[in-house]
Amino acid sequence: MARTKIAVCVCSGGIDSTVAATIASQEGYNLYFFHASYGQRAEACEKETVEIIARYLGAKELKFVEIPFLKELGGSALTDAKRTVPVGEEVHLDSDKETPPTWVPCRNLILLAHASAYAEVIGADALFVGFNAEEARSYPDNEAEFVKRYNTVLEKAVASFSRVPSVKAPLVHLLKPEIIKKGMEVKAPLLLTYSCYLGEEKHCGICASCLHRRRGFKDAGVVDLTEYIR
Ligand SMILES: [Zn+2]
Repeated sequence: MARTKIAVCVCSGGIDSTVAATIASQEGYNLYFFHASYGQRAEACEKETVEIIARYLGAKELKFVEIPFLKELGGSALTDAKRTVPVGEEVHLDSDKETPPTWVPCRNLILLAHASAYAEVIGADALFVGFNAEEARSYPDNEAEFVKRYNTVLEKAVASFSRVPSVKAPLVHLLKPEIIKKGMEVKAPLLLTYSCYLGEEKHCGICASCLHRRRGFKDAGVVDLTEYIR
């Protein structure tokens, strides 16, 4: 099958964005991976993981962007060394009463703006993202409404004669166990993904992201082959 459509896959190396990229591949897109370094603790691991996943999925290109402003700005436990990432008992997985300390101000908006510029230059048809219902419990920039509104903005953000790409969030209504099941169905390389906030070589097993990962596999009834330190 000749692939003619182009998708920019915004990928962190985690489960969600990897499953979304795999879906783009299944839908016949040529994949152009996009990954942002914004001072997140786990960046070295994320970058290495994204390289592996892009290669695994046969991506045509892998574009890295540096956004040091987000680290400079701080305001998040992920980017500010003076703040601590909650682990174990300190993590409130399903709390929607407060902003999690790992929230990075306007991150998805900022990442999408960069990825959209890339999409315009290469004439992409779509941008695939791993936004999902589990993240949307705490982060409104994972909701279907955010995607819809962003796509409206995008129509006026690219030049008149450019192709207007649209953001596609195939997991937007799914929780983690459903995403993992979907990943199994589309043969996403789940075992290659990296979720940990801390950036240790192996998954710590106790940060919010590791806990979501563990619970997701368990609730999906899929054997979790991830090596956790704790
Ligand atoms: Zn972790």
